[in-house]
Amino acid sequence: VAKQRGKNRYHRFDQELDRIALIRGETLTQIEAALINNQFVLYFQPKVNMRLGKVLGAEALIRWQHPERGLLSPAAFLPDIEGTEMVIALGNWVFARALDHLQNWQNMGLNIVISINIAPRHLLHHDFVETLRAGFAAHPQLRPHCLELEILETAALEDIGRVTAVMKECQKLGVGFALDDFGTGYSSLTYLKALPAETLKIDQSFIRDILGDPEDLAIVAGIINLTAAFHRQVIAEGVETEEHGLLLLKLGCDNAQGYGIARPMPAGDLPAWIANWLPNQEWLKKPALPSP
Ligand code: C2E
Ligand code: MG
Ligand code: MG
Ligand code: MG
Repeated sequence: VAKQRGKNRYHRFDQELDRIALIRGETLTQIEAALINNQFVLYFQPKVNMRLGKVLGAEALIRWQHPERGLLSPAAFLPDIEGTEMVIALGNWVFARALDHLQNWQNMGLNIVISINIAPRHLLHHDFVETLRAGFAAHPQLRPHCLELEILETAALEDIGRVTAVMKECQKLGVGFALDDFGTGYSSLTYLKALPAETLKIDQSFIRDILGDPEDLAIVAGIINLTAAFHRQVIAEGVETEEHGLLLLKLGCDNAQGYGIARPMPAGDLPAWIANWLPNQEWLKKPALPSP
């Protein structure tokens, strides 16, 4: 009887696996179709220097304009393609679209830096650097300095040596790097020391409760001091309120991104947003910290 029950359980487990495989297969096929049918769009969220009241650039964030389900956030579809080759096809699409937008804005006289998120698998793909080079070759007026790649610090887990080599190749082209969601990985300090990223992006989970949680405050202050010691730039994500900004300025972090500045917006809205942005007056009043 026990054997029979075990067998039944195995069957059910098997069927469950089939069901998951089916869903996964469908999603992959749908994402492939969505790419062909032009259903992906890039939204852009500004990055600013709070103390100077200056727009630095914007991060490109992918959305799926789904015909039935509406505008889908990356959390609704990126996990389904992680670990598949679709990550590379989609990543290449994001890169190509970002260059188109950059070209468009440069033609309008807007000089900003666009950041794109790069999946670990994409960065380590053998064609990655060549794709960047070809992209810029197709846009000879664009300066590669206008592009920044955000990589998750966990990306390096597999092979710090290879990641470093790819980063250096990209930097030779002029492209910059930010370590995204900094502080959430297992070996943040190892990465800080080993990876040649110009910028650290403090994860929003540390910023959220910075005003009430002394431990989060200590972590953020620590990261900001580390970036200074390592001669890196620092930016905080998830800046939702004036108070968040004031505290970050006090700690020595001038650069920020978050709903308190702007939500991600369609590409077409960005030029007008930049033209009309009124920097927070309390932020502008903060004097610069003396450099250590
Ligand atoms: P991320 O790179 O850390 O991007 C920041 C996320 O936080 C965005 O969510 C953004 O809308 C959200 N956010 C910004 N400011 C605030 C704030 O003040 N408060 C709160 N609560 N949230 C804020 P989104 O657009 O849903 O993206 C989620 C993640 O998906 C991104 O995290 C990134 O890891 C990934 N992603 C987005 N676009 C791409 C892409 O083109 N390629 C790859 N590989 N990953 C992408
Ligand atoms: Mg990012
Ligand atoms: Mg992030
Ligand atoms: Mg994040």
